[in-house]
Amino acid sequence: MMLHSRHFLNRLATSTIHSRCFAGTLVLAEQVDNGKLAPVTLNTLTAASQLKQDVDCVIFGSEKTNETANELQKFNNLNIKRIFVAENAAFKNLLSESVTPALLDLQKKNNYTHILGGSSTFTKSILPRLAALLDVQPISDITKVIDKDQFMRLIYAGNAILKLKSNDPIKILTVRGTAFEAAKPATGSGEVKVEKLDSSVKNDLSEFVTRQVQQSERPELPSARIIFSGGRALKSKENFKLLYDLADLFPGQATVGASRAAVDAGYCPNDLQIGQTGKIVAPELYIAIGISGAIQHIAGMKDSKVIVAINKDGDAPIFSIADYGLTGDLFKILPELTEKLKKK
Ligand code: FAD
Repeated sequence: MMLHSRHFLNRLATSTIHSRCFAGTLVLAEQVDNGKLAPVTLNTLTAASQLKQDVDCVIFGSEKTNETANELQKFNNLNIKRIFVAENAAFKNLLSESVTPALLDLQKKNNYTHILGGSSTFTKSILPRLAALLDVQPISDITKVIDKDQFMRLIYAGNAILKLKSNDPIKILTVRGTAFEAAKPATGSGEVKVEKLDSSVKNDLSEFVTRQVQQSERPELPSARIIFSGGRALKSKENFKLLYDLADLFPGQATVGASRAAVDAGYCPNDLQIGQTGKIVAPELYIAIGISGAIQHIAGMKDSKVIVAINKDGDAPIFSIADYGLTGDLFKILPELTEKLKKK
């Protein structure tokens, strides 16, 4: 059954792709709720610029796509030639079944050699679908661009680095945001052409039902500068308040993360999980509290600029990657730390 449908997709794609040869990159730019660019798009632009060829960007959304395009225009130092905007109420929830056909059309018209998106829930559901339609192998979570065909990515929970070469004519790549600096806007002025895409949507495959979003004043994990991350040692949901109290001393800058053990035990929601099967973060300061430092956890936070570990076991593996370590009982250390920080 799987083979059958793949064969069908291949036929569909090969029968429609134009053969015009063009070396260019397309960046799938991501819009967040208020019309702003998702931070990971800036990291993706940096990765795209390292391919050293012309870049087009495309934005899908249900409103304010022009505002997002205006933001993107500030990066005209990065070889961005055109920005396509596709606005339709049906793009509100960016269902991959709605977005992918439009992306495929754009590819057919422009024959890009590289299509990039930041590693996010949105992109990870769209780009593999596009790759299947184009009959190429998607390459996920790249951490380095070596040249137009070769890339690096982490494997075995970040314990080994894979250098891979792709012979596919179209490379479909997701970019690990923490591995690339965020693009900086140009200092001078410059114009990038903004073009409207035909944004009709034909999607009878899926329908948006509902989304549950945790409302929080704290920043999202990937964009937080400081993360107080708690492990199994916190022992309860109530005790996680110790971490929220600390984070709230740095409004707009700090948030709370967790190990999988803490999430599985129900001490906090699973969107706080950091690691191989959770979020990948690289804040300026990561404070691991009562977390042993299993490789699957380290895979998600080892690129943090400064790592502090608080653990009562002086031999805990987390200390081997920590810049600063405090050996002791978190239930004594955290209240003291909170008091001292409050005085500051
Ligand atoms: P533990 O390993 O139990 O460590 C608790 C630590 O707290 C210990 O070091 C202990 O010394 C310390 N401690 C206890 N009491 C105190 C105290 N009072 N004061 C100070 N320190 C104290 N894990 C993730 O985190 N993220 C992932 O994405 C992830 N993905 C996984 C994927 C797979 C396929 C598998 C198999 C596992 C994955 N795991 C992941 C689980 C991972 O292997 C570990 O089990 C988990 O990270 C352990 O969480 P922990 O450090 O909170 O708990």
